[in-house]
Amino acid sequence: MPERKYGNEFGIQTRAVHAGNDVDQDTGAIKRPITMANSYELPYDPTDLNWSSAGKALYTRNGGANQQYLQEKLAVLEGGEDCVVLASGVAALSGTFFALLNSGDHVIFADVTYIAVYRLLNELLNTKYGVETTLVDTSDLEAVKAAIKPNTKLIHIETPGNPTLKVSDIKELANIAHEHGAYLSVDNTFASPYNQRPIELGADLVIESLTKYINGHGDAMGGAVIGSTKLIEQIKAQSMINLGGTISPFNAWLIMRGAVTLPLRMKQHNENALKVARYLESLPFVSFVAYPGLKSHKGHEIAKKQMINGFGGVLSFGLKADHDTYNKVTSYLKVITSAVSLGHDESLIVFLGEEDERQYLYPEAFHNGFYRLSVGIEDIEDIIGDLEQAFEKAGLNGSEIIKR
Ligand SMILES: *Cc1c(COP(=O)(O)O)cnc(C)c1O
Repeated sequence: MPERKYGNEFGIQTRAVHAGNDVDQDTGAIKRPITMANSYELPYDPTDLNWSSAGKALYTRNGGANQQYLQEKLAVLEGGEDCVVLASGVAALSGTFFALLNSGDHVIFADVTYIAVYRLLNELLNTKYGVETTLVDTSDLEAVKAAIKPNTKLIHIETPGNPTLKVSDIKELANIAHEHGAYLSVDNTFASPYNQRPIELGADLVIESLTKYINGHGDAMGGAVIGSTKLIEQIKAQSMINLGGTISPFNAWLIMRGAVTLPLRMKQHNENALKVARYLESLPFVSFVAYPGLKSHKGHEIAKKQMINGFGGVLSFGLKADHDTYNKVTSYLKVITSAVSLGHDESLIVFLGEEDERQYLYPEAFHNGFYRLSVGIEDIEDIIGDLEQAFEKAGLNGSEIIKR
């Protein structure tokens, strides 16, 4: 890790602006350039180089320039010692599991996670490689304690979780993991380091899909793992170099640029999403709203404790309506786009149907289909106005619209 100019003594906005950037030594430019090279000059005698080393720029799969700048920025934003950046959030998740777990190890993982985590742990790593896995409601600390085994190596959670917004207590789970010699990894994608910094709460590893809030503009994919030098070195050596999910220099540069405004964007996401959640909750034809910022949310008190600046931009909600009405509503939206992903500048909505393979893990309210809405940074009047006109056009009414 190169010497850092911007550590935790600086505020999150200062860190977001400056960390990882420096004056370019060749040109004097005050922004580091994009280095598209995939190979780097070797020393006079290369024979004693470790070709699998992630330490020095050697070959872009071992760590290129733009990747290293972004790693520095993200380590500083999350308050961790080191970071590895990969091609997608899923590359970061699979790379973590691959590096940390051996056959015979046991993993406890949250019953609400990104779908690839469910497939990796519930279907692939267990059957192909003999990793023991237990799916647990990690918002229930007693259930987590009861699931611990002598060979438990890792507890993996996501909070708030995708797509039900379930909240798990990071600090308590870190304590439980450490009491039993296990690691805690936290997928922090929904919160972003502006709202939640799991390492400060005791987590060993933080995983981010950079595709979402950290890039924030919906135009690049990436993933990151942040943690101690020891663990990150292991993930770099085993997963980055040998699984090969390397990020392109251009995507690393784009994400670096996007991350500068993360705090500003998150403020607007937090503010807009809370207003949309309250608006939706006031409508008689809305069957439920899941947003950790609402008092009605089961995890609200824990979220208030661990989400330092706000509750993020994602919420889920249901309608007292049939399947077709859901599709009609999305087709009438003009500001909000019907598309997967989340954490973009623009608002995105996705109708998750009744056939979800993990429905048995969701609360009853989610069983008749629901929307996941990623509230963007547009004007709040336009977002709520868009929902309002689409609901009306789809024949949903009787609403007591709250003042905004
Ligand atoms: C999108 C997402 C991922 C996967 O990230 P990709 O960049 O799409 O691979 C992982 N975790 C969460 C919570 C996500 O929302």
